[in-house]
Amino acid sequence: MTAIVVVGSVNADLVTRVPAHPAPGETVLADGMTVLPGGKGANQAVVAARLGGDVALVGAVGTDAFAAAALPGLRRAGVDLSALATVPGPTGVALVSVDDDGENAIVVVPGANGSVDATTVARHTELVAGAAVVVVQGEIPVAGTDTAARAATGRVLLNLAPVVPVGRGTLALADPLVVNAGEAWRLLTEAGRPVPEGEPFAVVTELRDLGPRSVVLTLGGAGAVALDDDGAPVVVPAPVVQAVDTTGAGDAFVGALAWRLAEGDALVDAVRTAVRVGAFSVTAHGAQPSFPTAGDELPV
Ligand code: ADP
Repeated sequence: MTAIVVVGSVNADLVTRVPAHPAPGETVLADGMTVLPGGKGANQAVVAARLGGDVALVGAVGTDAFAAAALPGLRRAGVDLSALATVPGPTGVALVSVDDDGENAIVVVPGANGSVDATTVARHTELVAGAAVVVVQGEIPVAGTDTAARAATGRVLLNLAPVVPVGRGTLALADPLVVNAGEAWRLLTEAGRPVPEGEPFAVVTELRDLGPRSVVLTLGGAGAVALDDDGAPVVVPAPVVQAVDTTGAGDAFVGALAWRLAEGDALVDAVRTAVRVGAFSVTAHGAQPSFPTAGDELPV
């Protein structure tokens, strides 16, 4: 039995630095390009494993050269890749450009991640059902996510990033639903519900009315708000750090949250660790390269 099973995306991130993003029809020259392992599923699995979790990943890469670029972080972290398929065609790729203001623009080509559908996930029912925590996001087909949530017997951590139309049953199983402020806005707007401006307590309450058992709203440098199935929302401030690159902060948060929940922490206690891991990740460049390992001292 594996404590944490992540069912999600694996990408190679092609990261360029540009003075300014190109307008439609324009060409700009970049300073260079780095190829980094990425994908929300892979990132979250890497964080949870580096911190000491026992983690398996259900996902897929393609048969192109980018597969080799996507996997080293997972391998080094010791993530069990026996449920990672290799399917004919391209690996998922994210074309990331970062401008001089630190703003990024991203085009994602799902590639092999598109094959992680209901049939693929159903092949790993036993693995998923044996996990204490099953982690899903929005970068694989919705039917794959819904199948994973249905197969889970442990906790389902639903990170709706990006926001995709998961089944009502999946939302009802989420414990917690984890979203950032932009995702919360989109989710509530699409559900035709009011979005309380600047009132995170009201936002988490509205989110819980959509059906999840518990909710966590991340707020960047302001930390997170947790709303468990009993009681009132709790604000968990993030430590103050010198932020240099917030890429992957949400993934660092989710991976750490999964790890603590699998260790048996109550939701708010797990969030207290997750905000510190998220803050650690923004103090270095990149996604996976910025994640802590078990021995690292987390900011307080
Ligand atoms: P996302 O990366 O999905 O947009 P957030 O920006 O809400 O998510 O960040 C997730 C978590 O990362 C936060 O809850 C916090 O713990 C940490 N974090 C993000 N930005 C900062 C920051 N500027 N200072 C400290 N911690 C941060």
